[in-house]
Amino acid sequence: MPLKTPAEYVDSLRNMKIRAYVGGEFVDSVVDHPSVAPHINTVAKTYELAHVPEHEDVMTAISHLTGERIHRYTHIFQNADDLIKKIQMLRLLGQATGTCFQRCVGLDALNAMYAVSYEIDQANSTNYHARFRDYLGYVQREDLMLAGAMTDPKGHRAKKPSEQEDPDQFVRVVEQRSDGVVIRGAKLHNTGGINSHEILVLPGTGLVAGEEQYAIACAVPADAEGVVFIFGRQSNDSRKLEGGCDIGNTRFGVVGGEAMVVFDDVFVPTERVFMNGEIEHCATLVNYFATWHRANYGGCKGGNADVLIGATAKMTRILGTDRNAIVKDKLIEMIHRNETTYASAIGSSALGYQLPCGSFMVDPILANTVKQNITRNVYEIGRLSHDLAGGFLATMPDSKSFDNPEIADWVRKYYGANPEYDVMERIRFGRYIENMTSVTTMVEAMHGAGSPQAQRISMLGQADIEGKIEMANKVIYGTDDVAGLPLPDVNPKPDADEVSDKT
Ligand code: SF4
Ligand code: FE
Repeated sequence: MPLKTPAEYVDSLRNMKIRAYVGGEFVDSVVDHPSVAPHINTVAKTYELAHVPEHEDVMTAISHLTGERIHRYTHIFQNADDLIKKIQMLRLLGQATGTCFQRCVGLDALNAMYAVSYEIDQANSTNYHARFRDYLGYVQREDLMLAGAMTDPKGHRAKKPSEQEDPDQFVRVVEQRSDGVVIRGAKLHNTGGINSHEILVLPGTGLVAGEEQYAIACAVPADAEGVVFIFGRQSNDSRKLEGGCDIGNTRFGVVGGEAMVVFDDVFVPTERVFMNGEIEHCATLVNYFATWHRANYGGCKGGNADVLIGATAKMTRILGTDRNAIVKDKLIEMIHRNETTYASAIGSSALGYQLPCGSFMVDPILANTVKQNITRNVYEIGRLSHDLAGGFLATMPDSKSFDNPEIADWVRKYYGANPEYDVMERIRFGRYIENMTSVTTMVEAMHGAGSPQAQRISMLGQADIEGKIEMANKVIYGTDDVAGLPLPDVNPKPDADEVSDKT
């Protein structure tokens, strides 16, 4: 059965020659670096839970290519139930790790490429889809960790790719060869790439005629010649080097271990190229990816918030405030906001529809609504957690103070609260809350899967305002009422020549 164990995943990374820089320095082995290890441990959980019989239904699926049981993270969504199970999987993993488990970007990129390679072939009689299915079979057989790479640096934001002073601000093909292509550029905010097997590179924007060199989608091994990862900084990340509980989420880290990935003239063989110049399909590819990924956040952030709500509820017991009605009401508000986003992610999945290739897409306006709510609810849930946990989140001394015999008695005595709990419980849970509501976590919720304005623009387009105006016209001017009821007379609709609904 093609399901890697966590140990096999870690060993497979050890066998790769990933070129990575962390803290500005070259790293020999990403597996053995304390800044990366928690993120690897998080991905290992995705492999581990797929082997737990109780979670088989959510964590695995049946491959439509082979009929074999595979990891859900390598599966093409076959129906609305698959979309719902994905959201359930994300909530489960969020609950198990409290953080970003990184594999969803690759999953959504895989699905987007599957759908669009089919649509390109239908339009142009090319053979990308068969090629992509071969690649997909390899990913499923090997249960690979895939990182989707979408976001280009973008340079001057008012200019298109072809108008940039530096043409490398968007990943592009710099050489077409008989056996493949050579690509150059970089992708930013790359979640999990530094501990992935493969990078699925997709265009990050719609393109116009003259920009064919930027219309490139391909799969690149994470240790291919010319691929370089430069690890991002996170809030409090140097605490990982100190050890101890000040890290907060000590086992799994904060967010997804994002990096810049540079493609320094990387050769990609033809069998790994899935789009090469088809500008007219780029916007669809970006849109498919973003729509699936926006629905995800109701699952993963739901699971993360479950852990945060738990940590906050426990903190109120440690402090002795848990019986207060106002405290309980604030916990209710946290729960309410969390379940609202989860419900919209499940709803978006339940109302999924079939794409031309046969796979399933979530309901777009609901998916955008999920992510829009996340940009607010994650902040509000964090705000309420701060409110209930108290100001010591920002002022408590570091954990080493509790080990130093010269001062330990004082910090233990004066940070003590409800005597049923050891003072270090207060510190540990306080550090968890501090780190998991830090700037990095909040900004990820704001901008991951697209900035809030990107969702709002999509929602306006998807909301069918003209259709809603027509609904209002029908309700207000309609004449198809049951005869004989004592309804008031209504004004007739003004002549279309006199009044126009169009603005
Ligand atoms: Fe998955 Fe959520 Fe992380 Fe995106 S932010 S990769 S959906 S866990
Ligand atoms: Fe994310």
